[in-house]
Amino acid sequence: MKVLKFGGTSVGTPQRMKDVARLITEDAQPKMVVLSAMSGTTNTLVEISDYLYKKNPEGANNVINRLEQKYLGHVDELYSSDEWRQRTTDFLKEEFDYLRSFAKVLFTSFEEKVILAQGELISTNMFTNYLLEQGVDAVLLPALDMIRTDKNAEPDLAYIGKQAEAMLTANPDKQLYITQGFICRNAYGEIDNLQRGGSDYTACLLGAALNAEEIQIWTDIDGMHNNDPRIVEGTEPVRQLHFEEAAELAYFGAKILHPTCIQPAKFAGVPVRLLNTMEPDAPGTIINNHLHRGTIKAVAAKDNIICIGIQSSRMLLAHGFLRKVFEIFETYHTSIDMICTSEVGVSVTVDSRKNLDRITDELRKYGTVTVEDNMCIVCVVGDLAGENVGFETLATDALRNIPVRMISYGGSAHNISFLVNGDDKQRTLQALQQILFTYDGHVRRPS
Ligand code: ADP
Ligand code: ASP
Ligand code: MG
Repeated sequence: MKVLKFGGTSVGTPQRMKDVARLITEDAQPKMVVLSAMSGTTNTLVEISDYLYKKNPEGANNVINRLEQKYLGHVDELYSSDEWRQRTTDFLKEEFDYLRSFAKVLFTSFEEKVILAQGELISTNMFTNYLLEQGVDAVLLPALDMIRTDKNAEPDLAYIGKQAEAMLTANPDKQLYITQGFICRNAYGEIDNLQRGGSDYTACLLGAALNAEEIQIWTDIDGMHNNDPRIVEGTEPVRQLHFEEAAELAYFGAKILHPTCIQPAKFAGVPVRLLNTMEPDAPGTIINNHLHRGTIKAVAAKDNIICIGIQSSRMLLAHGFLRKVFEIFETYHTSIDMICTSEVGVSVTVDSRKNLDRITDELRKYGTVTVEDNMCIVCVVGDLAGENVGFETLATDALRNIPVRMISYGGSAHNISFLVNGDDKQRTLQALQQILFTYDGHVRRPS
């Protein structure tokens, strides 16, 4: 069994859906196909929720009506028979009436999550209907009965495995299973999601739970590039990444992968392949257990980072000081990305403003606290084990003209991270591109 995930752009128009249908039916191998919402839909659902939060039902209804017209327009293009056009139109009418019904209820984060779930519910229904119209023997499996998070909002892998196996057993004669990415139920049985971009995570969770042969993430680019193609010109695809390297790149901002989706695949040892729906024959990127010694693979950047500094000449050397600092972050369920210490201070970074005031208030018991906003972590990833002399010098040399607030090296053998001001992000990424990668995308070795 392979698990294939197609992102928003890959199912973004009726023609794209037809292309995906062709791609997954080219051979008769068993497949679990995970779909995102059609591109732009989740953003529109967020916009609808914003109107409802602001108690502006008219604003919400205008957006809902526009989205409905767009979807009804897709029906004519996607189906060739009146029967499937009618069935899908009826389904869409029900969906959009349901969306309109939220104007009458008290709007909370619970309702918002229900609204956000509709994009994937719609895309998978439309796609499965298309397959059935084409005579393909596919079955739609509800992700809401398969994917669940626990009380810590972490995926419950044992439950996912049990449910997914049960659903496959209940459909023994099928080879093609379709399901929704992104959406899940939480530990209280409520509709929830795996955060934006979470369809990648669904695919990796299912791939790990089912011990799949391979997880394929199909998107709109030919694999993981060695730098952010939205910001830097001349980036190149990286053909192979170790699980750890891919996990670091995803966590530190390479948008092609959801930040934590690699973890389950890594633990289960299931390779992940990144492929381009627009160019299905391109090699893409394979992520597996192989470590290519002595190479820097890629650079990524994570925005909206907050740097918190605690200066305390009195306390820092005292044993137990760092524990007290970390306990404050733990109390507020806030994870730290980077950390640097000296004899008189410690600086950490976080990626959320939630509880920031309470955290800094408590930290003030232990020293002078500073907060710097709009920072950016730039992360250089590859085989950066200590014995690879010269790689860290290459990276720091690239940043010789850029003010660097923190450097973290040695936390893992795969990453050097730099904290820079958000306004310097672009020139930092460009400078690293020039120094680390030659014109053909190969790493420049330290001389
Ligand atoms: P999908 O909707 O298929 O999930 P995403 O938009 O989430 O697609 O991810 C693909 C996009 O990620 C690419 O179009 C590209 O702009 C962006 N991206 C950012 N960093 C990288 C990178 N290092 N390599 C490849 N793509 C990247
Ligand atoms: N549709 C969701 C989003 O836009 C999930 C995904 O596409 O992966 O974030
Ligand atoms: Mg994505």
